[in-house]
Amino acid sequence: MTPHKYHHEFEVLKQIYALYDETIKDQKMVCKKGCAACCTCNVTLTGLEAAYLSQALDTEAKAALKDAVDRHFPQKRYIPKITTNQFARLCMEGHAVPEEENNPEWGTCPALNTSLCSIYHARPFGCRALMSTIVCADHGYARVRPEIITTNTLFMQAIEHLDQNGISGNFSDIMSLFLGKNSLSKSEENSIDHIRKKITTKENFQFTANEKITVLMIEPEYRNKLSVVIQILSSFLK
Ligand code: SF4
Repeated sequence: MTPHKYHHEFEVLKQIYALYDETIKDQKMVCKKGCAACCTCNVTLTGLEAAYLSQALDTEAKAALKDAVDRHFPQKRYIPKITTNQFARLCMEGHAVPEEENNPEWGTCPALNTSLCSIYHARPFGCRALMSTIVCADHGYARVRPEIITTNTLFMQAIEHLDQNGISGNFSDIMSLFLGKNSLSKSEENSIDHIRKKITTKENFQFTANEKITVLMIEPEYRNKLSVVIQILSSFLK
């Protein structure tokens, strides 16, 4: 079987996901199977993550996700105006950052199937990184430790850097490009090529252009603690 054109990037992405799991494994959190309050239609991801997710699903799972995205496409959803690396760069340059609108009441993620994620093994980083110290369903919001927020930001910056020529966007918008009725191409590799070249032909789609890392957003008190993780991430991204 011919290796996937993006095999190397997928392998690096898997390494980053595994490093994240290892980094946060001792953190205390209340999140558990069946707790899906954070599974809203506002989840975002990179185009490369969408490609990884798409190729990790078997034919049946892919068809089910395509059907779910088509049938439950959220009209109101979070559409990011800037990426994490853009945010870091704009702050460093002293520019204002745009206001973002995001409301969990806009609806649930199309991939959610009766409180369980239908694509759990291949879910994007945004879903892996939501770890609360309180039960979100009871309080209406998550509480995430500052150290975890900083760690999450670091990994988001690395994942965007890995796909620096691509795009980021809302889960439903990006998965539609791969699987939905608005898909760009029958061929998965062609779809990834299109997405990575930031070519979109549909006026209704709204994406942001990924960037490489120009500055890491790490609070001074966590720099030492995260230094080994930063070194490992740097070695992955060489
Ligand atoms: S992809 Fe899965 S884990 Fe992520 S928000 Fe959707 S249902 Fe939840």
